[in-house]
Amino acid sequence: MKRLIAGTTNAHKVHEIRSALSTLAGWTVEALPEGVPDVEETGSTFLENAIQKALHFSRHVDGLVLADDSGLCIDALGGRPGIRSARYAEDAEARIARVLGEMELIADAQRNARFVCALALARSGGLIHTVEGEVAGRITRAPSGDHGFGYDPIFYLPELGRTMAELTTGEKERVSHRGRALAELVKHLA
Ligand code: IMP
Repeated sequence: MKRLIAGTTNAHKVHEIRSALSTLAGWTVEALPEGVPDVEETGSTFLENAIQKALHFSRHVDGLVLADDSGLCIDALGGRPGIRSARYAEDAEARIARVLGEMELIADAQRNARFVCALALARSGGLIHTVEGEVAGRITRAPSGDHGFGYDPIFYLPELGRTMAELTTGEKERVSHRGRALAELVKHLA
C-alpha cells in the first residue's frame, strides 16, 4: 500500500482527499498525526502557501505529504477574502456575515466569485508536484444549505441552481475547486 499523509486537520478536506484517491488502487490516506507543529502561512498566493505547508509537514512526518491551501475570491471585493479566507472573521458564521455585509450594495450581476484550491505534494522537505483547481459561482444574499463547510452556504453554482452547501458530498467532490485539483493530482499519482 502507498501512503499519503493529508497535511491538514480539517476533517472535510481529509474526507475529500480520501474519496478522490479511492479511485486509485493501492493508496491509503492518513490524517496528519497529532503533535506535528503548525505552520504560519506567509505566502502571497494559494500555491505559495500550499507549498510552504507541504514542505513543512514533510519535514515532520515520514512519507508523502499532500497540503492544501484554498479560499474564496470575490471579484467585487478585489479578490478578498482570498488567502485570508480562513481568518476573515473569528468563525464560519461571522466570516459569512462579514462577506454578506461587504456585498450588501453589490448588484446581482456583479456578485461573481471563485473558489480556488492549490495542492502541493512533498516528501522529506522536497517538493514533488503541484496542481490547482477552481470553480466559478456567485455570492448569494443569504446562506442556504447545511452540507460542506466554510463559505459553502453563500456560494451559488448557476449551472446546478444550488449553493455548494446544498450539494451532496459526491456532487461537491465532482464540481469543487478541491475536487478538480484532486482529479488532476490523481492523474499524476496514477
Ligand atoms: P485553509 O484551511 O488555510 O486552506 O483555509 C481555507 C479557508 O477557505 C477555509 O477555512 C474556508 O473558509 C475557505 N474554503 C476553502 N475551501 C472551501 C470549501 O470547499 N468550501 C467553503 N469554504 C472553503
